[in-house]
Amino acid sequence: MPDIVYLNGEFMPIEEARIPVLDRGFIFGDGVYEVIPVYSKHPFRMAEHLRRLQYSLDKIRIANPHDDAGWGGLINEIIRRNGGDDQSVYLQVTRGVAKRDHAFPKGIKPTVFLMSTPLATPAPALVESGVACVTAEDFRWFNCDIKSVSLLGNCLLRQLSADVGAAETILFRNGQLTEASASNVFVVRNGVLLAPPKDNLVLPGITYDVVLEIARAREFEVEVRAVSEAEVRGADEIWVTSATKEVLAVTSLDGKPVGDGKPGTLFRRMHALYQQFKQEHMRTPA
Ligand code: PMP
Repeated sequence: MPDIVYLNGEFMPIEEARIPVLDRGFIFGDGVYEVIPVYSKHPFRMAEHLRRLQYSLDKIRIANPHDDAGWGGLINEIIRRNGGDDQSVYLQVTRGVAKRDHAFPKGIKPTVFLMSTPLATPAPALVESGVACVTAEDFRWFNCDIKSVSLLGNCLLRQLSADVGAAETILFRNGQLTEASASNVFVVRNGVLLAPPKDNLVLPGITYDVVLEIARAREFEVEVRAVSEAEVRGADEIWVTSATKEVLAVTSLDGKPVGDGKPGTLFRRMHALYQQFKQEHMRTPA
């Protein structure tokens, strides 16, 4: 099946989609996005993703071009047209096209784009082995809660791990854990699951919320609070979470083993519960 995308009111093969060079998404990175995992053709946590989209749009003062029913229709249609059971739906809204000027132009229409790619969740071998990560100082801006397409900081930080064949770059700001370049981070110490709070320094991950929801429902001991760099470096377990990674164990940090260098007990429990949670979701009507 060809890759079908949606651009400003029309579905078309990806090769035919064209954006004017003066689109502010291209010129300034002036836009926001979402990535929604789809399991067995069911978008996972769509309401939560659309709520976060609204939050990002409000923060950068773009009027939402669609209501939730409108978005739901577009998302389900892109899933249908692309055909696979498990997909990753990407949607992006930019401020639109205007003569280049930093200040917001008046009266322009946002650009709306959706595409879908096959969902590649981590292979079982990776879940079994865990992944290596490196660390870096979080030099990004103070609005990391906005899911902005201005991702240069995240790309530069992710590349630090890519350069050494690691899966992610875990970030510290002033000695405190924030998140990773494209994931949230959890830490386990003495049987307690620690999570940095959702503030302006981290993206409020949808997977982060699912993991906390499962942890609380299953009576894991949970503390949502600032986590220091020292606590991360001395952790029994470290996890990274995102829509496409789901929950992954970090088994090496800056070349040193995390805990005993194998995915930990709490990780194994959480990973199994997460898969179960997905299965239950797939049984609910789309
Ligand atoms: N933090 C950052 C910086 C991200 O880019 C992402 C998503 N790729 C996440 C956290 C995780 O968010 P979600 O669980 O909604 O995918």
